[in-house]
Amino acid sequence: MSIAENIQHLRQQIPGQVTLIAVSKTKPDEDILSAYAAGQRDFGENYVQEMVAKAEILPKDIRWHFIGHLQSNKVKYIVPFVHLIHGVDSFKLLKEINKQAAKFNRVIPCLLQVFIAKEESKFGLDDAEVREIMNENMLSELKNIKIAGFMGMASNTNDETIVRKEFHHLKQLASEFPQCNIISMGMSSDFPIAIEEGSTMIRVGSLIFGKRNYNQ
Ligand SMILES: *Cc1c(COP(=O)(O)O)cnc(C)c1O
Repeated sequence: MSIAENIQHLRQQIPGQVTLIAVSKTKPDEDILSAYAAGQRDFGENYVQEMVAKAEILPKDIRWHFIGHLQSNKVKYIVPFVHLIHGVDSFKLLKEINKQAAKFNRVIPCLLQVFIAKEESKFGLDDAEVREIMNENMLSELKNIKIAGFMGMASNTNDETIVRKEFHHLKQLASEFPQCNIISMGMSSDFPIAIEEGSTMIRVGSLIFGKRNYNQ
């Protein structure tokens, strides 16, 4: 199936209120333009340089989501144009985003990345750290960021019970902060479960663009 057909097929499977983010990391501009021609406007990228290069060339009404692990020293490159930063996993990073955003007079929406999986290698905050950051006293200083919600990645397992439990956990935690109503969870392998558990944004790469080849 073509990229356009993949997107149409996916749209039939997701409710209208769920935002589909096409994860285009490692994929060429032509692939993004094929998705764009099919009406897709939200794209997700993991690497700063790659996202900056694509944003320069591709249509200006694309909404660029940064979904990777963001290093503080690279924040300045994406702040002029990024639509939503999904993977914020420290207060230090939040402060840096705030500082850079102020230079552009922007208020940048951010999602706190919550560690919900079993695997040790995944980034993210635990529940206590989320509650600490969400404490008004810490956030009130930061006028140029907005916590718009939460992001999480479930364990990479075929055991649906585990995946469901992890998504459920994120939804429960998020419901403590009803003013932050974005829940970014669900990828190619697990988005149907994520939606059942309350996801509002799914990040889908391989089901749209095919497998990634990191060795090119
Ligand atoms: C690569 C990536 C995705 C998309 O993964 P697929 O399995 O190809 O759908 C989603 N979220 C994050 C954070 C990613 O790094």
